[in-house]
Amino acid sequence: MGIYQNFGLKKIVNASGKMTALGASAVHPKVAGAISEAAMDYVDIQELMVAAGKTIATVTGAEDGCPTSGAAAGIAISVAAVIAGTNLTRIEKLPFSDGLKNEILIQKGHAVHFGASVTQMISLGGGKVIEAGQANHVEKDHLIHSVTDQTAALFYVKSHHAVQKGMQSLETMISIAKERVIPVIVDAAAEEDLRKYINMGADLVIYSGGKAIEGPTSGFICGRSHLIEACRAQYQGIGRAMKVGKEAVVGLLTALKRYESREDLSQEQKQRMLRLVEQIKGMAGIEGRVVQDEAGREIYRAELRIDSEKFGMSACELIRHLESGDPAIYTRNHYANTGMIYIDPRPLLPGQEQLIIKRIKEIAGLIRKPACRKNGAGGETDGD
Ligand SMILES: *Cc1c(COP(=O)(O)O)cnc(C)c1O
Repeated sequence: MGIYQNFGLKKIVNASGKMTALGASAVHPKVAGAISEAAMDYVDIQELMVAAGKTIATVTGAEDGCPTSGAAAGIAISVAAVIAGTNLTRIEKLPFSDGLKNEILIQKGHAVHFGASVTQMISLGGGKVIEAGQANHVEKDHLIHSVTDQTAALFYVKSHHAVQKGMQSLETMISIAKERVIPVIVDAAAEEDLRKYINMGADLVIYSGGKAIEGPTSGFICGRSHLIEACRAQYQGIGRAMKVGKEAVVGLLTALKRYESREDLSQEQKQRMLRLVEQIKGMAGIEGRVVQDEAGREIYRAELRIDSEKFGMSACELIRHLESGDPAIYTRNHYANTGMIYIDPRPLLPGQEQLIIKRIKEIAGLIRKPACRKNGAGGETDGD
């Protein structure tokens, strides 16, 4: 029995990836231990935030850092920081920013949804969103012409969610910003490289603590000292509504230290997936193979190609069965409409691939022996 079952919730097997909807990351026992110790004691929060900034600076190469409750909060707080600075009157007035330099310039193809809207988070921080160009086409001139005396920052989204073609590069945005002495903010929420954008000259860079870093629900901003000081100051204003707790800060810092010296698990994960594929060999209607991540990262997933005629149901139906079981099994389903289901090894706890195989075989058995379906109806949580 897991902790969530004590509250009447179903057990989840996460084979999909780092999904916010499934709790993003399961943290390492060392991180969990640090969170637990931090939760059971007191600390001067302001001193903790300053100390956290030093650790973030070390890992990112930035001058300073500021913990947040997540990357979304990081967006709102960074924007608030470039608009209000450390001026308490302005800080307390946000998100109302009339009369202040409040325009945040973003390429139209970067005004995306990551689970919520990037531009809404900018507005939450008091930013007036100015979108340059079109969704699939932005020229350098679109950006240059959109910069005004009211521009508070240029905002760049580095993400698979953003439109990848037809946009201007971060280098271009930095060069435009430098000329006009305007800061550049980068949303790098799910990125793995914690130094790249600081090295390129970005002024503030935002990361999620629960994605690549595999920390607790948290995030951070890193960048130039005076801007980070302004970020911290927002906790007297809009930041209060997105407060990050002491236990999350300590969990984040512990995860960050681990992240620096993390071992490469990709080959071990690949072997696990090869064994999984081996075990479905010979099953009617399923072809398995191991494939590398489409974006070229060192992630090897099991690809299950479902032939709905031979298997007896489509990939989408199989997904529905897997999700409605107990434990509920969540696979990676971006290409389910083409008959493909992926098993992502990264969030799979030891032995869970066995559970997936067993469940797929049970589901296949249900279709093939309709009588079992009736018999099992009471005990099976087959849902539909
Ligand atoms: C996930 C994500 C966020 C939000 O991160 P949280 O830590 O969940 O708040 C923001 N921007 C992008 C591009 C993301 O992928």
